Amino acid sequence: MHPPEKYASAILLRDSGTPLAEIARQLEVPKGTVAHWLYGVRARQMAARRRSAPVRRCAGCSGDPAHLADAPAYAYLLGQYLGDGHLVTSARVPVLRVYCALDYPDIIDECRRAMLRVHARSVSVVPRRGCVAVQSYSTHWPCLFPQHGPGMKHQRRIELADWQRGVVDTWPEPFLRGLIHADGCRSLNTVVTRGKTYRYPRYFFSNESVDILRICGEALDRVGVEWRFTRRNCLSVARREGVARLDSFVGAKS
Ligand SMILES: [Zn+2]
Repeated sequence: MHPPEKYASAILLRDSGTPLAEIARQLEVPKGTVAHWLYGVRARQMAARRRSAPVRRCAGCSGDPAHLADAPAYAYLLGQYLGDGHLVTSARVPVLRVYCALDYPDIIDECRRAMLRVHARSVSVVPRRGCVAVQSYSTHWPCLFPQHGPGMKHQRRIELADWQRGVVDTWPEPFLRGLIHADGCRSLNTVVTRGKTYRYPRYFFSNESVDILRICGEALDRVGVEWRFTRRNCLSVARREGVARLDSFVGAKS
C-alpha cells in the first residue's frame, strides 16, 4: 500500500472507531505518523485557536475595577483578607484562605459567597483548630490581592493599588463590614453613675499593621464616622451617631 492509500485507509479506520494503535499496527506505520495524519492538522488548528483566544483578565491584571464581577463583594472580601486572610503563592495554583471563627456561621457563609461572587469557581470550608479556613484556588487571586508577600502583614508595608482604592472609595460600607467581621467587634460598655447602670455599644477594630489601621480609619472617614485610637493596635467608634451608622451596615456578629 502506498502512503496516500494508507492515509485514506487510516481515515476510514478512524471513522469506524478503530483505536490509533490498532490502525498503526494494521497499516504498519509508526503511531506518531498516524497521529500526525489523523490529528495533526486539527491539533495545530486547536493550538492556534488557543493562542488567538483573548486571555481572561481580572481587575488585578488589567488594573481596571470594571473587570470585577461584583465590586461590593470584592470590597467585603478585601476587608476580610486584610483582617484574617492569607494567600499562598508557592503552590502550582495559588490558594486564598480567610480564617473565620467557628462562633459566627453567618460570617463564614458570607465570606464563602463573596469569594464565589468575586472570582472563585468553587470554595471549600476546611476545619482548622478553633476556626475554619474558607479557601479557593485561582491563578488570579495574587493579582486580585497584590498585598500578598512573605511574612506577616504587620511586618511589611500594606498599600492598596489604585484600582483597589477606587473600589474602597466607592464601596466603603462592605469594605468596613469585611474588616470588622475579620478583626473587629461590637461590644456593650457598661457605666454605673450614681447607682444607675448605663450600657452603650462601641465598635473596636484591632490589627497589628499600622497600614491596615490607617486604611480602616480612612474608610471610616469616608462614611463620616468619628473614630480614635484606644491603643497602639486598636481603634474604636464610641459616639452614638457613629455607632448607629455602623449598625446600619455591620451590626453584631453572628
Ligand atoms: Zn488577574
